[in-house]
Amino acid sequence: MKSLINFEELGLSEQILLSLTRSGFIDPTPIQLKSIPLIFDGSDLLIEAQTGSGKTACFALPILQQLSEIKSSDGVKSVKALILTPTRELALQVTGAIYRFGEFLTNKVSVLTIIGGESIAGQTLGLSNGADIVVATPGRLLDLISQNVLNLENIQFLVLDEADKILDLGFAAELDLVLKTISQKRQNLFFSATYPEKVLDIVKRISLNPIHIKIDDVTPTVENIFQRVIQVNRDNRGVLLRHLIKEEKWKNALVFVSSKVAAHNLSEKLKKYGINASSIHGDLSQPERNKALSDFKDRKIDFLVATDVAARGIDISKLALVINFDLPRSPADYIHRIGRTGRAGELGLAVSFIGHEDLDHFHLIEKRAQINLQREEIIGYELTGIAPVKLQGIAGIKGKRKNKKEKARDLILTKNIN
Ligand code: AMP
Repeated sequence: MKSLINFEELGLSEQILLSLTRSGFIDPTPIQLKSIPLIFDGSDLLIEAQTGSGKTACFALPILQQLSEIKSSDGVKSVKALILTPTRELALQVTGAIYRFGEFLTNKVSVLTIIGGESIAGQTLGLSNGADIVVATPGRLLDLISQNVLNLENIQFLVLDEADKILDLGFAAELDLVLKTISQKRQNLFFSATYPEKVLDIVKRISLNPIHIKIDDVTPTVENIFQRVIQVNRDNRGVLLRHLIKEEKWKNALVFVSSKVAAHNLSEKLKKYGINASSIHGDLSQPERNKALSDFKDRKIDFLVATDVAARGIDISKLALVINFDLPRSPADYIHRIGRTGRAGELGLAVSFIGHEDLDHFHLIEKRAQINLQREEIIGYELTGIAPVKLQGIAGIKGKRKNKKEKARDLILTKNIN
């Protein structure tokens, strides 16, 4: 439905409007309509925003405009807005959007990305040159705070982007430490696809009475995405994928798998069969991850095989297809994944492969996401055999051993306590 209010009526300046025209934004999305005026009013907001809803512009536009206005009068070199994201890719993507939206501002607003995997010296230098906005992942941000090169006492805006994922990735302790060093007099903006108790706890501690924004008419799954569910035996998924790539002329697809090893193996297998593929996962260095992503965006590769963490927040306009080679663990992740396609009014296709092992789990995803999808089978690759018997009581005990992230966090905490 076409919005009755345009960007100009939301109070955006001519310079910002110019950048929106350049980006091809004609009308505000529902979430932008509701939140931008409230951000201008100085309210704290709790925004329930699905991926692909246009949430980046919600916070980037009013923050840029206000910082640019302040800048004409103050001239003080200090970080004024801090945007925290769960992953490096999302941080880079948000930074890119801020650059584009701020391109025509007369009083330039500078933005710096602070993420792990890249030179800390370059980031320190960037800070000493003065950055108005910092977009960061929590770990590296804390490193710089503990080295006393980053002062957050003048922060006027704090944005937690994908707050649920920041906490899912185990960054709660880092977040606490960041909050201890940050100015108290600031506006807080929380964006999250879901609001589990742990997110609400953080919100309660940070903000007294945030306005809750939810777009009622947005169903959990995005309307302009066509979802296919293909039943296939686990061992046949690879050949079926290659078959469909050829038969249905699939291109420009993000393929989700459940582990770093699977991401590597599947992309290698596709390459072996002459398919233009690459992978993105946590075992690659940051330059390798950036290259895989930019090659995919530039259409130098057709298939990017990714884990959830690496793919979070990746925004590629006109991404035609998302493939769940492995199903995600949670219904929320299913929505996040398929939200990579069909963005901002474009049509998209999401395909999930399910085998005997996945039938119950997929049923649960459908129930939680309130969808009911038809199953299909491809001739020659039908699901055969019977479901393996589930053995009781031999599953590993989840959460007993600390994972890599928890160990790293303990290290940071120890460093800060000492
Ligand atoms: P986001 O949810 O911020 O990741 O945005 C999802 C996609 O929608 C991005 O490709 C944005 O550039 C695009 N987008 C955001 N707002 C608008 C808008 N008002 N009109 C058209 N595209 C938009």
